[in-house]
Amino acid sequence: MKKTTLFIYLILFLPILVLSQEKKQTPNKNFALAIHGGAGTILKKNMSTELEKEYTDKLNEALKKGYDTLSKGGTSIDAVIVSIKILEDSPLFNAGKGSVFTADGKNEMDASIMNGKTLMAGSVAGVRTIKNPITAARCVMEKSPHVMMVGVGAEKFAKQCKCEFADTSYFFEQKRWDQLQKIKKAEQLQLDHSDTTSFVEPTDIDLKDKKFGTVGLVALDQYGNLAAGTSTGGMTNKKFGRVGDAPIIGAGTYANNKTCAVSCTGHGEFFIRSVVAYDVSALMEYKGLSLADAANEVVMKKLVTLGGEGGLIAIDAKGNITMPFNSAGMYRGYMKSDGSKELLIYK
Ligand code: ASP
Repeated sequence: MKKTTLFIYLILFLPILVLSQEKKQTPNKNFALAIHGGAGTILKKNMSTELEKEYTDKLNEALKKGYDTLSKGGTSIDAVIVSIKILEDSPLFNAGKGSVFTADGKNEMDASIMNGKTLMAGSVAGVRTIKNPITAARCVMEKSPHVMMVGVGAEKFAKQCKCEFADTSYFFEQKRWDQLQKIKKAEQLQLDHSDTTSFVEPTDIDLKDKKFGTVGLVALDQYGNLAAGTSTGGMTNKKFGRVGDAPIIGAGTYANNKTCAVSCTGHGEFFIRSVVAYDVSALMEYKGLSLADAANEVVMKKLVTLGGEGGLIAIDAKGNITMPFNSAGMYRGYMKSDGSKELLIYK
């Protein structure tokens, strides 16, 4: 072959060769996700075998759906949405369908989501008729210039986004209603005794932890991007439009590809004041702590010192996962592309 012909061939085919090589670069197959269904006074002695199975089955279903999404090349944001929607649709968890009641006997839900690649975030608070508040949070993130929307305004925007709506009666769960009545009774008892020195400590498990049961998901997708999402009905008997940590970016939810993705559950007021989710990320970014050390520092030291109860799930850019909590139990689990998997409830 003449030199000039070879040269022409090279000019013609080199770009094709380069392009096909680029195409062959498959995404990194390392992906993983972790889920939580709330922390609180969850003790084996108070749990029936049937109920335990119901919880683990539902968490498994949500985890698996998220995993399948990631394994098919879906994004970490997609995984957060599909998994959280499953838990929001279940009456078992304090989010969506199973949301707890406010002091006024209403359901007011909060949710948030954050994209670790872009640092974009969206959240809704105090919404009453959005069937899956996590989908509305995504809309705020992707279709508005804002981060947080509340109440009727958030619902109006969710309507524009074509989110699914449900009548307020859809969110009524007898079990949740009974919890509210019990807590109100205990509160009244405390008020009645407030002129004496005796403090009436609620004895019922439900009364002690006001039924935490928030749900959350953190994920690392095949493209190396992190995401986190959290959804909740808040705390039983909450008053005056109270908003917890779940919809507050940096408190209940945070994601940053440089560090980690975090979703929290527990007594929200403490998580807000401790800026828990961002604190884990900041300890990694500024102090160089590992994911596990950073999460441990915040949940087992900072929160404990303040008296804050709960836990979190977190994942870093390598797919390491940590799930610390300082309460009796936390519904939690993870799945990784290396085949490892765990689903746990108690300590
Ligand atoms: N963190 C939630 C809140 O305070 C409650 C929970 O995690 O169950 O609203």
